[in-house]
Amino acid sequence: MKYLNTKVFAEQLDEADPLRAYRSEFLFPKAKDGSTKVYLCGNSLGLQPKQTSAFIQQELQDWANLGVEGHSHATHPWMTSNEDLAGSMAKIVGALPQEVVIMNTLTVNLHLMMVSFYKPTPKRFKIVIESDAFPSDIYAVKSQLKFHNIDPQEGLLLWKPRPGEHLCRTEDFEHIVKEHGNEIALVMIGSTNYYSGQAYDLKRITEVSKTKDITVGFDLAHGAGNIQPNLHNIGADFAVWCTYKYLNSGPGSLGGCFIHEKHIADEHINRFVGWWGHNKDSRFNMRVDFDPIPTADGWQLSNPPILSLAGTRSSLDLFDKAGFDNIRKKSVLLTGFLEFLIDDLDMEEISILTPRSPEERGCQLSIQVKNANKSLFHQLMDKGVVADWREPDVIRIAPAPLYNSYTDVFTFVQILKNCLYA
Ligand SMILES: *Cc1c(COP(=O)(O)O)cnc(C)c1O
Repeated sequence: MKYLNTKVFAEQLDEADPLRAYRSEFLFPKAKDGSTKVYLCGNSLGLQPKQTSAFIQQELQDWANLGVEGHSHATHPWMTSNEDLAGSMAKIVGALPQEVVIMNTLTVNLHLMMVSFYKPTPKRFKIVIESDAFPSDIYAVKSQLKFHNIDPQEGLLLWKPRPGEHLCRTEDFEHIVKEHGNEIALVMIGSTNYYSGQAYDLKRITEVSKTKDITVGFDLAHGAGNIQPNLHNIGADFAVWCTYKYLNSGPGSLGGCFIHEKHIADEHINRFVGWWGHNKDSRFNMRVDFDPIPTADGWQLSNPPILSLAGTRSSLDLFDKAGFDNIRKKSVLLTGFLEFLIDDLDMEEISILTPRSPEERGCQLSIQVKNANKSLFHQLMDKGVVADWREPDVIRIAPAPLYNSYTDVFTFVQILKNCLYA
């Protein structure tokens, strides 16, 4: 696409946008003067769909009217309330419905998956993670190592950018596997890095790891709803994600979890269990031995929080209607426009850390502003931009294709320019 650096051009792109109607399905934060903020922070917390309130109200109504009978007779019977969302969620991560369960929260699911899939032996006990992984993932992985009496210094292998670079190279990952493959028990990588915005080549990572029989798990926190990771076909063993970033299901809402078909019926797999993972036919017989549901649902511990699930249902409804392929198509154009405008600023102190190729990124661009400090970020906030600042000098801008417009992107770059020239 050949872009132009004008407001009229941005407005024309909005006119022609097949998803333009979805913007009005969301609630945008407002400034004190009543103007709509330029919200570019869906990588941190997605906006609230207008219909979410009605979805939650419905559950409250059903609870009020039915009490305990809501388990079977609510509009979306609570007993099966997360199961009927698995199909929609599966499309977003490229999985079979039986491979996906919506439960708990992200870091909890990461631990539960490592209980099942991190099986260290004296010879093979190392975990590979990207060096700039999100802190919670690093904490979780290190604590799993310690839980198995392994010193994290010895047990953790970091996949790092080369000196002077910001991105991790796939060939360096291949090198780690070649060198240390027989000592590696688990590869646990984020799908899209929260800091750089780099989308790793999950297919290649899985392929390479499987040459040495290594278990592969992904954290899709910044991937789910942003890129479609094709989990089933690439043969990932497991994955976890949250639904409050690109999936707009509300602060602290439920996490998602993928377990590949080849593992779901394996009764010998280690897992921490609870009654909600037990075969539904005999779940309420109570005094029987644990009999896992032969799908990803077998990993559930508790009955799900219905009010949060209503937020997830509302959001997935919009994703279903819009169609993920359409969302991704717009995302590539929208972020491409942002990239074009930033490049067109032509300022020496500004550089984009995120890869230039759309296949290697989602919607986020991480923009480094040399010699900036947080005061630039405060100026942007004062002028109505909602974005995200990472020390020492990086602004993360994530135009979410479902609700952001080309005009949002244009306005942001105008504001950035004004702040930088001020
Ligand atoms: C957002 C995020 C988290 C947050 O974890 P919660 O358990 O949902 O609080 C963890 N890991 C990654 C990679 C994230 O992006």
